[in-house]
Amino acid sequence: MDLKKICDGCGKTPGQVTGFFATPSTALCGECVMRAAHALLSDRSEAPTVGESKLRAGECGFCGRSADHVTRMVVFPKMFVCNECVFMMIDGLLREKKDHSKFILPSP
Ligand SMILES: [Zn+2]
Ligand SMILES: [Zn+2]
Repeated sequence: MDLKKICDGCGKTPGQVTGFFATPSTALCGECVMRAAHALLSDRSEAPTVGESKLRAGECGFCGRSADHVTRMVVFPKMFVCNECVFMMIDGLLREKKDHSKFILPSP
């Protein structure tokens, strides 16, 4: 299976960013992961918006859990990502920051 190579948050490709996280159907670049983490930490409803109320149908693009099963969900234009996956990807970014366009598959 090929991994997706276009970020669902901003449309960038792995070569344009530092850090890239992808599954066959979902992808998020390092920049968008940082934006998501910032939104979670600042607890404000900026873009990407964090809003649990309108997320009943949303599932995390990486782990597949619904908003009911996670603490927080960050909304991107084309996908959702839960707080746990965001922080797992941040962890990956910190470890892999020297390595550009690295694909990391989070485990459920
Ligand atoms: Zn992005
Ligand atoms: Zn998740």
